[in-house]
Amino acid sequence: MNYRPMIFKIYSAFFVSLDWIFPPECVGCGIEKEQFCNSCYEKIKFINSDICQICGFPNKSGSICNECSSQKPFYDQLRSVALYTSPISDAIRMLKYRRGITLGFPLSKLLVDKVSAMDWDIDLVVPVPMSPKHYYERGYNQAAVLAFPTSLILDRNYEPKAIVKIRETKTQVGLNAKERKTNVKNAFVADSKIICGKNVLLVDDVTTTGATINACSLALREAGAALIYAITLGKSIFSTSDFELQ
Ligand SMILES: [Zn+2]
Ligand SMILES: [Zn+2]
Repeated sequence: MNYRPMIFKIYSAFFVSLDWIFPPECVGCGIEKEQFCNSCYEKIKFINSDICQICGFPNKSGSICNECSSQKPFYDQLRSVALYTSPISDAIRMLKYRRGITLGFPLSKLLVDKVSAMDWDIDLVVPVPMSPKHYYERGYNQAAVLAFPTSLILDRNYEPKAIVKIRETKTQVGLNAKERKTNVKNAFVADSKIICGKNVLLVDDVTTTGATINACSLALREAGAALIYAITLGKSIFSTSDFELQ
């Protein structure tokens, strides 16, 4: 029996009551209203067109980018909801450092809007995992906080243990593209019993070069995944040469 619709109803009711008891503050300006007030919502730089069709990196021609042409990623398509600028960057910071759990549900609706706009046939929703050490320090995985409600809204299986991180990595912040790739190489392993033959939606909060998503995708490929799609809330622009931030 599929219990997801029932769990979704309980989950939604919980968040509605939570908002009633503790009215949310806008992540952009702090006014007590909703997670995004109208004026902050209008500041979100949604990524819609003029992107590489594989990695989703904004480019003006809208064709396959040089990186994907020279070495195709292990995933089939990666998309991000918006550029990593305020208020999306504020939301992601809060998701990581405080109020994480309560923001997961409203933010996952942005992910679902993006996924629904794509022609993706998904069997499983899988969060990008943290190492056990980082999980212990933070107490939760921010990717899972987005991935779980996403799976409920999409009515797809949620598999938080499909990929495990088998070694510690340095933070990707401050590393160049090549260092990022090396840093996460062979850091993940996927469970073929869960993954084999399935179409997977990988979920993470933010991507920059896509190195972490690609390393997870390699693990999924090795475990026999059929199609691999990835979605992140934010897209941090590593180099602005391809795209004007406006
Ligand atoms: Zn606001
Ligand atoms: Zn590309």
